Amino acid sequence: MLKTDAYGTAAGSEPLAPMQITRREPGPEDVLLEIAFCGVCHTDIHLSRDEWGFSMYPLVPGHEIVGHVAAVGDRVTRFKVGDAVGVGCFVDSCRVCEYCAAGEEQFCNEGATLTYNSKERDGRNLTFGGYSTQVTVDQAYVLSIPDGLPLDRAAPLLCAGITTYSPLRSYGAGPGKKVAVVGLGGLGHVAVKLAVAMGAEVTVLSSSPSKRADALALGAHEFAATADGKVFTERAGQYHLIIDTVSAPHDLNTYLSLLRVDGTMVLLGVPDKPAVLAATSLIMRRHTLTGSFIGGIAQTQEMLDFCAANGVAADIEVIPMSGINDAYERMLKSDVRYRFVIDMDSLRAPAAA
Ligand code: NAP
Ligand code: ZN
Repeated sequence: MLKTDAYGTAAGSEPLAPMQITRREPGPEDVLLEIAFCGVCHTDIHLSRDEWGFSMYPLVPGHEIVGHVAAVGDRVTRFKVGDAVGVGCFVDSCRVCEYCAAGEEQFCNEGATLTYNSKERDGRNLTFGGYSTQVTVDQAYVLSIPDGLPLDRAAPLLCAGITTYSPLRSYGAGPGKKVAVVGLGGLGHVAVKLAVAMGAEVTVLSSSPSKRADALALGAHEFAATADGKVFTERAGQYHLIIDTVSAPHDLNTYLSLLRVDGTMVLLGVPDKPAVLAATSLIMRRHTLTGSFIGGIAQTQEMLDFCAANGVAADIEVIPMSGINDAYERMLKSDVRYRFVIDMDSLRAPAAA
């Protein structure tokens, strides 16, 4: 076993702190990844603090992992030592069910093995995430980071990128389509860049009026502040697609009123309380309300290649590992511009031990 430095928490009420975990020695199909950067997703906060009620401790968050291959098993064909690679939200699945066979491993009938807060396929050991210096992952669940994508700015694509790319593709974001992105945080800002790159006309709907200039600089065509409520009458019935990334409870009915007939609203954010839905919000203009969960390995690679080809990468603030608890507090105040990314060298330096 490989002793590995990490940051995690022993209970939902405690801040994150240094801890040591073990990683398996690479087996024949495994890649040992020396982690360079790990993005900070709001899911890391929800799960660290047990906001969804199914956290398992000790918990080491992190599922936006990039780094370099440090070792490979005998049967690894897809990667070699030194390659720039990434790992997203899951690290294994059953591989034989209809969803795995279709490349939608996130919907594995047996449950995908999530990168952290999950059981390994042996059903016993916990998985630990990317707030750590190294990780061992089967090659089938490792992504190639294309040349031209800076590693630190690519890290958030492993979750925020695929989570927004997948529904934008499924629901036809492109020329002639009006797309609204609700919430300009980690997911939201990548959604804006991707939707613009796909050719859609993009509006940001934000509870933070101060983000207007940033939204336009990210490529959004329009920005509307939601706090005063006027937007819901002025823009009623305008959008083909709404991508909702808000992490806290909010009124879905008001956002649904912004859709055109046959428009679709996709929930990506996971507030810790259920929402109230009026049937008329769907009935009166034949709206669809749906959700989307990350994306499969093949589509994640497609997204990374799309980002490299179109110059899309996250806007980030690089932090040392020791800054993680402050970063969480800032995210909870919607004060993230627009993804925190941890420099894992800060965990390797002797001073940080
Ligand atoms: P984030 O960076 O913290 O951004 C969330 C944004 O939501 C904030 O920046 C803010 O944007 C808006 N917001 C927050 N509280 C709000 C409130 N009370 N009212 C209105 N707007 C509010 O979070 P993230 O990493 O993008 O994650 C967003 C959500 O997606 C989380 O719940 C996360 O767990 C979930 N998620 C889901 C998937 C999936 O597969 N479906 C994958 C990853 C993450 P403004 O300041 O612009 O209003
Ligand atoms: Zn995530």
